[in-house]
Amino acid sequence: MFDNLSDKLDKALHVLKGHGQITEINVAETLKEVRRALLDADVNFKIAKEFTNKVKEEAMGQNVLTSLQPGQLMVKLVKDELTELMGGEAEGINLSGTPSVILMSGLQGSGKTTFSGKLANYLKTKKNKNPLLVACDVYRPAAIDQLHVVGDQIGVEVFSDRGNTDPVAISEAGIAYAKANGFNVVIIDTAGRLAVDKQMMNEIATIHKAIQPQETLFVVDAMTGQDAVNTAKSFNDILNFDGVILTKLDGDTRGGAAISIKSVVNKPIKFIGTGEKMDAIDVFYPARMAERILGMGDVVSLVERAQEQFDEEEARKIQKKIAKNKFGFDDFLSQIQQIKKMGSLKDLMGMIPGAGKALKGLDIDDDAFKHIEAIIHSMTPEERSTPTSLNASRKKRIAKGSGTSIQEINQLLKQFDQMSKMMKMMQGGGGKKMMQMMGA
Ligand code: GDP
Repeated sequence: MFDNLSDKLDKALHVLKGHGQITEINVAETLKEVRRALLDADVNFKIAKEFTNKVKEEAMGQNVLTSLQPGQLMVKLVKDELTELMGGEAEGINLSGTPSVILMSGLQGSGKTTFSGKLANYLKTKKNKNPLLVACDVYRPAAIDQLHVVGDQIGVEVFSDRGNTDPVAISEAGIAYAKANGFNVVIIDTAGRLAVDKQMMNEIATIHKAIQPQETLFVVDAMTGQDAVNTAKSFNDILNFDGVILTKLDGDTRGGAAISIKSVVNKPIKFIGTGEKMDAIDVFYPARMAERILGMGDVVSLVERAQEQFDEEEARKIQKKIAKNKFGFDDFLSQIQQIKKMGSLKDLMGMIPGAGKALKGLDIDDDAFKHIEAIIHSMTPEERSTPTSLNASRKKRIAKGSGTSIQEINQLLKQFDQMSKMMKMMQGGGGKKMMQMMGA
């Protein structure tokens, strides 16, 4: 996410991060580089200029040059300003009505239908809601089919009326259906066009006026940079929407839209889409995003994801096995499954401070676990529970069965051994021992 921008900001702030002397001149130079990095990321010129002016003002107000750690203070000021620009606090969505009605708006291809599904899934699994999806694209039958496919995937009912060409009537019928059938959230997916046009704007404005939703969300493809910001402005002028959804942040996005949109329409980014799958949705936290952009990682989100996937019973089982020296490859495999559920490896790596930069250029893909899984699947149950039984002939057989090499198997055995030792140490009240080992 935002690799290019992160890289450039890192370079810009490099001098200040070091311990060299900091002068008024290199602060000015640095801010010039920061501004250039923002412009390259497709941030609006005026916003980039205001951004660096504000940081400069703050820096002077806080006497950066005479502070104890001027470099770090500057980085902090840039981070704070970036956070402010993206919206300060995270803002949730309004779910006050019975049912609460959420209207989706945006151009065709922005990811509206996908996001409607993701939001329904999020509200169902994380917020204990009972959502209904309503298909209001009366121009493209395929769009209605797509919403039904999405609904089936996540187990959420979809309301549609294929013969009907009046989106207002369909929305109203959908809401009435929800009321009659105990749905407490209604998500209305509407038709989009490839570009802003009068007819589409009139249509969405008419639906908006008729159903008076609790929440109107504008969905936009982050890859479109400045265009995303301009489209947001057009939709906001008509709808005065409540929040922005930025999709496709998993791609090679430059970051301009994420950084500029809030200050142009004065509406918060509420969620981001980070993939095509139904669980690729994240609440947007400006401060965490600023930290990620500045290569500081996002440990809070990482821990949250780990907690979400944490299975207490499984953990207890594994703890017992470790205590009895019975931790085997089956357990290793189940640990891998849990990590995989946390998200794509690349995404997870980006949340570890400094890791994004260190691993830059490396091709981390989710196939990284594939070989390990293949090796373990080629083992007999006995071999899995007693890794020491793996002699040369068994290794040869496993290599053949899994399409890997003996070298890879040896490497896995070594990793497994290290992991078992580490776990044993943590068990024996050895947290301290481990810290010592790591040189802390
Ligand atoms: P709509 O026309 O606005 O309803 O857009 P769709 O929901 O059909 O999405 C258009 C395309 O973008 C589809 O191929 C989606 O799979 C893809 N898409 C949507 N959201 C994301 C996302 O967050 N990341 C990625 N990589 N693709 C997405």
